[in-house]
Parts: sequence; C-alpha cells; structure tokens
Amino acid sequence: MLFDTHVHLLDERFDGDREEVVAQLTGHGVGNVVEASSDLENSVCAAAFAREHDIVHAAVGIHPHSAGEWDGHTEEELRTLLQEPKVVAVGEIGLDYHYDFSPREKQKEVFEKQIRLALDVDMPIVVHSREATADTLEILKKYPGVRGELHCFSGSAETAVELVKMGFYIAFGGALTFKNARKTIEAARAVPTERLLVETDCPYMTPVPFRGKRNEPAYVRYAAEKLAEVKEVPVEEIVRVTEENAKRFFGLA
Ligand SMILES: [Zn+2]
Ligand SMILES: [Zn+2]
Repeated sequence: MLFDTHVHLLDERFDGDREEVVAQLTGHGVGNVVEASSDLENSVCAAAFAREHDIVHAAVGIHPHSAGEWDGHTEEELRTLLQEPKVVAVGEIGLDYHYDFSPREKQKEVFEKQIRLALDVDMPIVVHSREATADTLEILKKYPGVRGELHCFSGSAETAVELVKMGFYIAFGGALTFKNARKTIEAARAVPTERLLVETDCPYMTPVPFRGKRNEPAYVRYAAEKLAEVKEVPVEEIVRVTEENAKRFFGLA
C-alpha cells in the first residue's frame, strides 16, 4: 500500500473532516502516514494523534520557521515525546532561507541541536531544506552517523546523489507533477529506487490535476505514478518499494 511519509493532517484546513479523511485512507490505498510537526505544541498534538489512530505515526520537532521558540525546556520535552511508540522520527527540522521566519544563525543552531538529539535517541530525522542546500549539506556532513530523509526534495540531481552517498533517503511529492518539474524529475531519476520515498506534505503542495484545492494523503498516488513513469517501472512496483523503504527508514515492522 502507499506510504505517505509526510502529512499535516492537524492543519486547520482538516478541522472540518479530519476523522473522515483518516477513516478513508485505507480505501484510497494508503496504509500509513507520518504526521510531521512544526513546533512543540504541534509535536504534542501529533504524538497524541498518532496514539489515537493505528494508521498514523508522528515525527516531532521544531521546524526552522519556529526555531526562535527554542528554549531551555524544548529538548527535554521532545525527548519525552520521542519515547512514545508511535513517534518514529525527529522532524521536520532544517533550514528555510526562502521565508527566513527565524534568523539563520538560530535556524542552524536549532537544526544541529535536534540532529544531536536524534543521534542520542537513535531516531531518523526528517529534513526540510529550502534555498539552503549548501548550509544543509555542510551541517549534515558534520554528523556522519545520522539517518535521514530530505522531504519535498527540490534540489538538483547532483545534490540528490550526494545525499544518497551519505545514506539519505529522498522524498518526492506533488512537485513532480508541476509544469516546471524538469529539475525535480532529473533528481528523481538519479536516486536509486531503494532510497525513494513518496509524500504529499498535505494540505500543501497539491499535485496536478488538483492545483488550487486542498492536498490530501490519497493524492500521494500521483507522486508514485510520476516516479513510475520516470523509472519506467509499473506503479505497483513503486508503491511496493517505497512502502518497504519507508518501513525500513522509520523502523516499522
Ligand atoms: Zn517542509
Ligand atoms: Zn511539512
């Protein structure tokens, strides 16, 4: 079944029908989703949301947009959440130089603190990197033991190959279906199938043909179909391998 490795079902855009969306996942061929967090409050909610639904897992962490909220208690609170059985990763963490909602030095500091935390508790990281490739790579190289994935990958094929050499998984979503997706498609072609993951990042990043509407976990199928086209294999093969990859990456049986 499809494994949507990155969703934000706690976003207010799902307030009206969240339980319905979760209940319909299996019917849409989606066997698992990982709820990604943006700040501490969201992490607490994501862990609870995962506890309440078999199909939902959680990544907990502080997004670069919220790096400014990091204080003396944040690490301990994340550490407590990371002990929960349905919490499978530290994320999303990283650098966002597109919006620069937090000062860059603070973003780097909070990113590194969370990488060290992930290493300490032996959990993978879900990395968000936007217009910050050089600094993201420089930081990740300082921690050769870290296991991670680059979510919503938008970099070049060269960067993808470099990350794969470092042991990383690369997740692709709706952006693969966009008109200007040439660079992303080249990157997907360069990643070995056993390192590919699929995601929606819903409610954001809605794929063609649903642009302008809310993105849904069910639409992860469009990323899988595009990958099948790029890799010239049947879509069932992409669904099977990306599910295996995700289960291995997140440590699920
Ligand atoms: Zn992100
Ligand atoms: Zn996200």
